[in-house]
Amino acid sequence: MASVTFRNVQKNFGRFKVIHGISFDIADGEFVVLVGPSGCGKSTLLRMLAGLEPISDGEIDIDTRVVNEVDSKDRDIAMVFQSYALYPHMTVRDNMGFSLRLRKADTDVTSRRVDDAARILNLTQLLDRYPRELSGGQRQRVAMGRAIVRDPKVFLFDEPLSNLDAKLRVAMRAEIKALHQRLKTTTVYVTHDQIEAMTMADRIVVMHDGIVEQIGTPLELFDRPGNLFVAQFIGSPAMNVLPGTLRAREGRTYVEAEGQEWPTAPQPLGHDGQQVQYGVRPSDLRLSATPTGIRAQVVVVEPTGAETELLLKVGDAEIVLVMHGRTSVQPDETVFLAVDAPKTHAFDTEGGRRLDAAAPAPATLQ
Ligand code: ATP
Repeated sequence: MASVTFRNVQKNFGRFKVIHGISFDIADGEFVVLVGPSGCGKSTLLRMLAGLEPISDGEIDIDTRVVNEVDSKDRDIAMVFQSYALYPHMTVRDNMGFSLRLRKADTDVTSRRVDDAARILNLTQLLDRYPRELSGGQRQRVAMGRAIVRDPKVFLFDEPLSNLDAKLRVAMRAEIKALHQRLKTTTVYVTHDQIEAMTMADRIVVMHDGIVEQIGTPLELFDRPGNLFVAQFIGSPAMNVLPGTLRAREGRTYVEAEGQEWPTAPQPLGHDGQQVQYGVRPSDLRLSATPTGIRAQVVVVEPTGAETELLLKVGDAEIVLVMHGRTSVQPDETVFLAVDAPKTHAFDTEGGRRLDAAAPAPATLQ
């Protein structure tokens, strides 16, 4: 097991800079997810850690050793790719033991490690099959088995579940998490799927355009996004955001937006008249039993069984409300909304920074 440190890591492809100086630490045994939209540089960062891509500037350490110039095969890491990258002409057993055989490990040790990994991953019955005889989920497990067999210091996963259907993705997500809880190997996991990030990570690194937007535990990012980008990237359905004007008078603070008064969190947010972006998550809005609060018009009602999603119109803006259970409200009906004020958010209109952020979230785990 090992810690990992990125120190002002940069990457250029020719004249194009795609990673702009990224620094953070990953603690020994931690499960860190790099998440961000397509093209933000998360795979490039992972590939630099793996030694598959040279580092243009800065430093990467595994434990206390600088690995910038260390060959990939000598970094003691194991990577699981989206494509699984299994050898088609080898059985599951041979695929899993291949790296140990390459290192000329003792045959008994290799077969013991393969058997152990197969047991952990429920692959024992499949050891003599070829990859073409396996389902997508089974192939993914073999790819993980191959990584486990090496007993590396760090596991790296690059979008390992993208090729699986939705149901299998959920099952594999839980398997990878359970595996980490059992082995406690330091893990860096790349995905563009914020739900995967939220459900699996000890800490999430949100990336955007080659920089880190915020680092924190899943619930820190959900409850206190440091800026508008993180606010709208983390959480599904996305946070409702409305441009408005802050009103702070006679001990009462609210945001005027779309002709309505939206309650705010109790923290001091700014001065009276300040332009802000007001944020409220769909799950922090409720249908009011009385005709008080935010007046809205129902556009669409989407029951999903356990929950109902309502698309609503407030002034010219469309917002989403998610409620537990079911509702009898109909499209075109006028409804009133209660807002869970302490859970609302406000961001400045220029940089999109959170307005009550006393201090930025720490980039380093203490
Ligand atoms: P995705 O989720 O789509 O895989 P990503 O966040 O992993 O995206 P990267 O693959 O790291 O993004 O790419 C980051 C940026 O670097 C992109 O703009 C991409 O076009 C560029 N890039 C990646 N590899 C190369 C390369 N070999 N040569 C030139 N540009 C590259």
